[in-house]
This record gives sequence, structure tokens and C-alpha cells, in this order.
Amino acid sequence: MSKKVRVRFAPSPTGGLHLGGVRTVLYNYLFARSQGGDFVLRIEDTDQSRFVAGAEQYIMDCLKWCGLEPDESPEKGGPFAPYRQSERKHLYADYAEQLIDSGHAYIAFDTAEDLEKMRSEHKTEHNTNPQYDHRTRGLMLNSLTLAPERVAELVANGTPHVVRIKMPEHETITLTDMIRGEISFDSSLVDDKVLLKADGMPTYHLAVVVDDYLMKITHAFRGEEWLPSAPVHVLLWEYLGWKADMPQWAHLPLILKPDGNGKLSKRDGDRLGFPVFAMNWTDPKTGDVTTGFREMGFLPQAFVNMLAMLGWNSGTEQEIFSLEELVSKFSIERVHKGGAKFDFEKAKWFNNQYIHKTNNETLAQLALPYMEEGLKKARANGVLEMALLEKVVGLVKDRCTLLPDFWAQGHFFFLTPATIDEATIKEKWNEQKKQFFGAWTTALEQQTEWNEQAIETSFNELAQLNGLKKGDVMLPLRIMLVGGKYGPGVFIIAEMIGKKETIKRIKAVNL
Ligand code: GLU
Repeated sequence: MSKKVRVRFAPSPTGGLHLGGVRTVLYNYLFARSQGGDFVLRIEDTDQSRFVAGAEQYIMDCLKWCGLEPDESPEKGGPFAPYRQSERKHLYADYAEQLIDSGHAYIAFDTAEDLEKMRSEHKTEHNTNPQYDHRTRGLMLNSLTLAPERVAELVANGTPHVVRIKMPEHETITLTDMIRGEISFDSSLVDDKVLLKADGMPTYHLAVVVDDYLMKITHAFRGEEWLPSAPVHVLLWEYLGWKADMPQWAHLPLILKPDGNGKLSKRDGDRLGFPVFAMNWTDPKTGDVTTGFREMGFLPQAFVNMLAMLGWNSGTEQEIFSLEELVSKFSIERVHKGGAKFDFEKAKWFNNQYIHKTNNETLAQLALPYMEEGLKKARANGVLEMALLEKVVGLVKDRCTLLPDFWAQGHFFFLTPATIDEATIKEKWNEQKKQFFGAWTTALEQQTEWNEQAIETSFNELAQLNGLKKGDVMLPLRIMLVGGKYGPGVFIIAEMIGKKETIKRIKAVNL
């Protein structure tokens, strides 16, 4: 019987969640769902020096917002709890011990100064960055160079020490990656990574292998930046006697800067004016806020769809996929090897498509905070009628790309425009038009039927009577009601803002 598919997202809670991280979550999620497997969230927080308050909760909130919730997590629990590595500290030392006993790891007592000294002494033109490895380990203070009694003594008297893997010399380490195929590494080029730190905590390398094993992970999806660590992990699986259970690896392509020049970073987002994090992230130390896709006005479904296409395609022209469709269509074979360039305009296109698809009731709820904020800024009182807002979002949604656009495109339904583009009206203004609007407002006062059709008919008839083309007076009317040259049909706007307000806005423009 084949094993149940189990995948994991294993972030270190050190700050905002980069969109590449969310894509890793997504591919994990899609794979698990398509295979009837489990999706685990494991928090890799063994590096106390990089601990950032609030980052774990933030990650969980991002997953919730995206609708990519794990089956097992620190919050939810599960059969392999705890899911926070700091709470599993007691588990790792035994495995480090096992590796020492089998000769694959050793204890090292070197201080930070010792390491510095080694680096400066061994630095040559050909070796600009000397490592703690097969070339240097014999010169350092460790259980390979010291007598066993001395090692026992140092350990007994509490001398700080770490455990390092003993990387073999000139061995070819091979792994088969689901995306890249077979990849080989020369073991001599990899340093003797620390496995267990002086504070007794494992490093990422030991913890990731032990936990993937204990949590019965079958497939491991992670960013390409982890590829250089893979040979260490493969050896640990082997040295711990678990090779047969090693997960299948998939190293996902990088998400690149828009120009394709290197990995997309938070700084690129700041520089080019687009978000890189899923949601707003507030740095607890500096208080600096980095804007997220959510706060910029993205719908989570659009964000997720956009991410799915950054590194994968269905083999067809189709670009819009619901999460269910993605689950049924996603396949690792169609994940690209090369990096995917991030394109903010394309991201906005996805959002616009989703706004178009979403029903007005849901959209009104999503737009509500932006409308309330707009009204608050304008110091306008009063309650926002949801029924009216639903109608408004229905009218303007095709003009909206991001949720704040609902205010920009629809504020005039709720407020008299603060500014009117009178300059544009003036360009083609004349006495005849002035008289027309004067006469029309008088006619409107008498108008009993107030709906789009009736308003338009009265407008057209009067224009004709005055020898004006409808087109000549439509633009001024629009600007009077809206403030500028935009918005949905002008007569539906008049209907919705009401007779009194329509007349008031026309009269306010006194040229
Ligand atoms: N803790 C690693 C990270 O922060 C996980 C890498 C992996 O998935 O193995 O991304």
C-alpha cells in the first residue's frame, strides 16, 4: 500500500510572509488536496536570535486570509504535535548523539574567535571564504582532534560546544527533484554544518530532517534557495538510517524582480511601489509597516490565482482558475524550472477579473471599509446604506482594479463632489448651454417620475428643442454630477442621487 501523502510548509517566523512563501503554501496545498493527503504547518523557530514577536500569528492569519488552511498546525494541533520546533527541543539531541556514535558527526568547542582566526589564516586567493570542513576540521578544537578524555572533561565542565556533521570527502550526493530531475553535489564543497547549537537547540538542518521523518512527510516543497542545503539533508536521512522514508523533493523556482534580474525582495516592492508581503506587516522593533496585498485591496482568490500562475501553467490559454479547479488541474510536471518574473500589472488584472466575477453583495461587504474611510475623511456623517452600496458596486465594478477604487469610482453617489473639473466644462461652454441647463433644472423640479429612463427622456427632448446635440450637453452634465470625466451612465447616477441632489449639483456650477 502506498503511503498517505503528507506535505508541510515550514516557515521560520522572522517577519512578513513574502509572496514566494505563499506560493510554496499554495503548491503544498494543491498537491495535498489533489492527492487526498494532509497539509501540515510546522513553525521552525529554533533560531532564538531571529525570533520576531507576532510573526507566527501573522503567518497563520495570512494562510487564513488566502483560504489555504493547514490540516495540522500549532493552532489546530494534530497527531504529530507539537508543531512548533522550539517545543520539540528535547527530541533532537538523541539524534545528534546517534550521529556522533556512528561517526557522522562530532563535537566542536571552537569559540567565535577561533573560527575568525581560522578564516583569516586560511584565506587565500583561491579560497576566499574558508569553511569549517574536511580541510580545516583537523586543525580545530573538536572531538576529532582532542583525546576522548579531554572531550569528556570539557563537556562535563560545561564548556560551550556544538555538534557538526562530518561531511565526507569527494562523494557525489544525488537527489531526484520532482521539478529539476537528478541533481548531483560534490560533498567536498559543503562545510560541516552545525546540527546542534551550544544552547541545545537544533539548527534548521537537523530539525528539518528529524521532523520531516517523525511527521511522516512524503513530499517536501520549498524554495530553490534551499537547494544548497539539500546535500546535507540527504546525508542526514542516510546517516540516521531513514533513507527509504526520505520525502520526494521539489525545489520551486524563484519569483524574480519584474526585470528578471534576481530574486524579488521586499526592497524591490518598496522601490517600485507594489506589495511583496501577503498582508500588512508591522515590524515590532521599528514600528515600520510594510503594505500587503490584502491592504492594497486584493481579493484573496485573485492573489492565490495569480500566484498559482507564477511558476505553473495548465498547458492551455486559461488563466482564471478557482481553487477547486487548481486542485484538480495542478501537476508538479507543469511547474517551471526557471524563475518566474513578477508582474504587478498582471496581478492587478487578476484582481479586476475577480472583482468582475464577484457578486455585488459580497463586493459591497469588501468595499465597505474603504467607503467608510472615505466618508470619514470627508467628515461626512450618516450611515452607509448597504442596499445602495450594492447597487453602486454593481455599477462601477468593471472600472475597479483594487478595492479602494470603489471609493474613487463611487464616492459621488454618497457625497457632493468636493471638486468639479470646471475647466473642461468651460472649454466648450456657451450661452445656449447655460440656458439649456437652466431650463432643464426647472423642468426637473416639475418632473414626477424619477428614474433613469424618465430623466434621460426629459434631457433628450429639451436638448432637441434647444437645437443641441445630446453629446454636447452630456459631458457637462457628467462633470456637474460626478466632478470629472468618469463614472457609469450619467442618468442612472441622477436617478440614484435623487432629484434634489441632481438639481443642486447642476445649479452649483455657475459659469
Ligand atoms: N524553515 C525553512 C524556511 O524558513 C524551511 C525550508 C524547508 O521547507 O525545508 O523556509
